[in-house]
Amino acid sequence: MPYRSVCRWLCLFLIPVGLTDSPLAAELTAGAAKVDITNYDAGPVNDPLFAKALVLKSGEDTVVLVTVDAVAIGEIGPIKNDYLGKVRGELERTLGISPQHVLINASHCHGIVCPDVAERTVQAVTAAAKQLVPVTVGTGRGFEDRIMENRRLKLKSGREADVRHAYSLPPDDAVAEVGPVDPDIGLLRLDRADGSGTLAVLYQFACHPIQTVPNGGNSADMIGFASKVLEEGLGDEALALFFQGCGGDINPVQYKDVNNPRDAEPLGHKLGLSALTAARKIECSKDASLRILNETLALPRADNAEKIAALEAEQQRLLGSLRGTTLNLKTFLTLTMNQGLSAEFPTSYSHRYLHEKSRGRNDLERFDAENKRNLEAYRQNIYVMEELTRLQANLALLKKHQARNVASGSRTIDVELVTLKVGDFVLTTFPGELTVRIGLHLKQASPFPQTFVSGYTNGYIYYAPTKEQLLNVGGAQEDSDCLLAPDWQEIYEKHALAMLRKLDGK
Ligand SMILES: [Zn+2]
Repeated sequence: MPYRSVCRWLCLFLIPVGLTDSPLAAELTAGAAKVDITNYDAGPVNDPLFAKALVLKSGEDTVVLVTVDAVAIGEIGPIKNDYLGKVRGELERTLGISPQHVLINASHCHGIVCPDVAERTVQAVTAAAKQLVPVTVGTGRGFEDRIMENRRLKLKSGREADVRHAYSLPPDDAVAEVGPVDPDIGLLRLDRADGSGTLAVLYQFACHPIQTVPNGGNSADMIGFASKVLEEGLGDEALALFFQGCGGDINPVQYKDVNNPRDAEPLGHKLGLSALTAARKIECSKDASLRILNETLALPRADNAEKIAALEAEQQRLLGSLRGTTLNLKTFLTLTMNQGLSAEFPTSYSHRYLHEKSRGRNDLERFDAENKRNLEAYRQNIYVMEELTRLQANLALLKKHQARNVASGSRTIDVELVTLKVGDFVLTTFPGELTVRIGLHLKQASPFPQTFVSGYTNGYIYYAPTKEQLLNVGGAQEDSDCLLAPDWQEIYEKHALAMLRKLDGK
């Protein structure tokens, strides 16, 4: 028996519990459908939100991929904590689909979905399951690096800050460096085997879709626009389903622009066109094996009691550092403008300074020096105020999660991890906001070249930053809006890689 055949034969006996493996020869069928989940009672709508479903069937196995234009699967936003169980329970009851084979990803846009989103999600899956057709599959990778940036800033002090609307950025000269982004667009394309075009494209990318639209209406943000470009570009009623990646510390560019209204549409168009360009190049084949693993992992909860005490002490120190000056906001702005217009002669015409000098006096210069000292003191107060807004917002998050961890009575938190392989396309998921380095690391370490990592799937446990980012607890949202202890990263990455290797049969 040739070596490869021996391996394949051996693998049949090495498949671990929980692993479903459909033989390569089994035909893959698929169906796709979408249902509008916009809450039309929640104010003006700019563009609709959708639950989209892709049902894949191979032999006896059925896998369901659902994407929703919502902030999270439970915990925050309008989707309630019972949503996942409700959808899975109903799909098991009516369609006989195993709950462990149902993946639901939230795009993390901040749109407002309707109260009956669970029922409508079931409708989308049911409609998709009713129209299964034989498909061929292919995978690929697009490239986009113009629309996003890493939102964590390394400061010269060694601490890190992040780009949020909740507070001010540190002064420009305090910033030392920025973090990475992941320009990959992961792509799975499914074509109808009868040659009648593309049935669906699943695309995956890492970025917070939170740019909003100029009219402030309800919106699926850049994902809604990107999916529309893909669907119209592909034609044949193809459905584009978006899986959010490791976007925990990735923001849209110009997120804090105050000179132009922020607009998700051009960003979404760029993402959609980049995805479309790559999707068109994919060649689909009949080699469409379907494998899925679903496991639960316990991760350590954080204990930030000491960090909270240290931050409260820092809060008092900052408050105590505020010093009164003769200026108020109005006089500060006037003097700042005068200094900016004429650093040498801010108070009056230059000839008055020259006249004073010729008479052996320097009253104006002395006055300017005093104003300069007051301006600097006032500026320092403003920086302290800005630092306090950052500290207090993050301290409140830390206290919230500390209380939650204490109330849980447990040192660990369970997370559901799924690893899915469709042809050469591999997706591994996590129910929290993974930061981008974790995705980059797992992709590099995976035995499969086309591996993509998605947070925001099958639940929501807030941010999941790296061990190193957690050294900065209290300094930025990702490290403060978090339930996890620093060791979580190593435990998770090891387990996710083990699951990938199980799919690889190693
Ligand atoms: Zn987020």
